[in-house]
Amino acid sequence: MPSTDSALLTASAIRKSFGGVEVLHGVDLHLARGEVLALLGENGAGKSTLVKILAGDYVADSGTVHAGDKEFSALDPIKSRALGIRMIFQELSDAPLLTVAENISMGTWASKSGIVSWSKMQERAKSALAMLGIDIDPTRLVGTLRIGERQLVEIARAISDNAKVLILDEPTAALSSAETDKLFEVINSLRDRGVGMIYITHRLDEVGIIADRVQVLRDGSQSLIADAKKASRVELVTAMIGHEIANVAHPEAGMHSGETLLEVSNLSLSNVFSDISFNLRAGEVLALYGKVGSGAEEVGETIFGLHPERTGTVTLNKKAFAPKDPIDAIRAFIGFLPADRQRLGAFMVRPVAENLAVPSWPRYSSRGIITKVKENAAYMRWSELLKIRSRNDPDQLIATLSGGNQQKVLLSRWFECDAKILVLIEPTRGVDVGARRDIYNTLRESAKENKIGILITTSDHEEVIQVADRVVVMSRGKKVTEYEGKKINNSDIIQAASG
Ligand code: ADP
Ligand code: MG
Repeated sequence: MPSTDSALLTASAIRKSFGGVEVLHGVDLHLARGEVLALLGENGAGKSTLVKILAGDYVADSGTVHAGDKEFSALDPIKSRALGIRMIFQELSDAPLLTVAENISMGTWASKSGIVSWSKMQERAKSALAMLGIDIDPTRLVGTLRIGERQLVEIARAISDNAKVLILDEPTAALSSAETDKLFEVINSLRDRGVGMIYITHRLDEVGIIADRVQVLRDGSQSLIADAKKASRVELVTAMIGHEIANVAHPEAGMHSGETLLEVSNLSLSNVFSDISFNLRAGEVLALYGKVGSGAEEVGETIFGLHPERTGTVTLNKKAFAPKDPIDAIRAFIGFLPADRQRLGAFMVRPVAENLAVPSWPRYSSRGIITKVKENAAYMRWSELLKIRSRNDPDQLIATLSGGNQQKVLLSRWFECDAKILVLIEPTRGVDVGARRDIYNTLRESAKENKIGILITTSDHEEVIQVADRVVVMSRGKKVTEYEGKKINNSDIIQAASG
């Protein structure tokens, strides 16, 4: 793209590979003075990689960047900074034990003589904060601030260092709506001062509010560039997911649901989720779907007794159910897979058979002695049913299995002890495609055949399509909507979760 007077930054034909796999296939990006460009795309589309190239954190394999009348074939952090490009990271990179003023001045201490002038530093911080209309005391320690305030301090730091291009990578993922409003005010005042901004978000409703133009990436290529005020949600979602993906629920979705097992009413957990109501029926897979931070994961954990301070009511087989801890939940025949299988789910350096058998020990043991024979037999049986790829050796350590096969062992654990309800948090995170298909088949089959109720929490819309009979969509701690069977399609659920 030819640079015009108002052009700040133009990247052309950027390519980047990691370990031989190309993840950006020749992407362009143009940013003008005082413009906010929203950058959208599903997880893994290449958004962060693209902006890290602009920030000089990654070096592109090919392509060019024009900025300040110069052309670069590669940027590094020093060049990028000299050009006034600053990135506010998803993971904050501030110094919690220093004051706000110190953080704002960090790396650019306000003194020619090499002596730090505390009063100048305070002045400078005050003026940067005032300019942006941010009301935070510069003498406070950054570690005592809320996450939204810390982000604003990081922006003030970039601005007091003459940022011309500000890159924000999913800044609102962890912010409350009041904090988001404040951030938007700051973005608007920066726009008036001519700063160009690249704003990465997964919240579609933010695009029309804060951005001037929107660019969508899909699988490392650009799939849409449009006027942010004119692009419709459907247009954006279609550009994000493409047409080639299976768009509706699997053929048997919603066909095998039986009586209600679990009834959840107005379940709330302070500052995490509120007023969540749904039921779980025998024979079905119910997905709680939401983007990271939606609260879906914590709802699942609550059912398993991990957040006893919750309010609202849960009934299990028509009786009040308020587990104090996971032991109560397990006694009520509820099984659970945590998000972090390595740390919380598996006993990594113990044999697969033992990992599978733990909750069944009371049933296996006779006069206090656990029969290894029963444990091994159970392993061999489930290993065949779930196609667990291993050495077929019950003594093999679970740590030596792939992620997908570990997950199968942990699932069989609950089948073996006759769980009536399974709560599975992100059940296929870090699982390869083949094992993923096996797990989906197993979940659907066992719900149908054994009349158990399976609740999964997931941030992956494809997972919902593949496995769920019903989906409850959550966003920012609230239930947004619910779809069943044939009514489930990925365009609707993505839109609902992005609201
Ligand atoms: P997004 O920010 O849109 O979610 P990313 O830019 O983080 O996407 O990732 C794009 C692709 O590049 C993904 O497949 C991701 O796994 C891969 N990727 C990103 N960073 C690295 C890295 N440092 N090493 C290897 N692969 C990476
Ligand atoms: Mg990213």
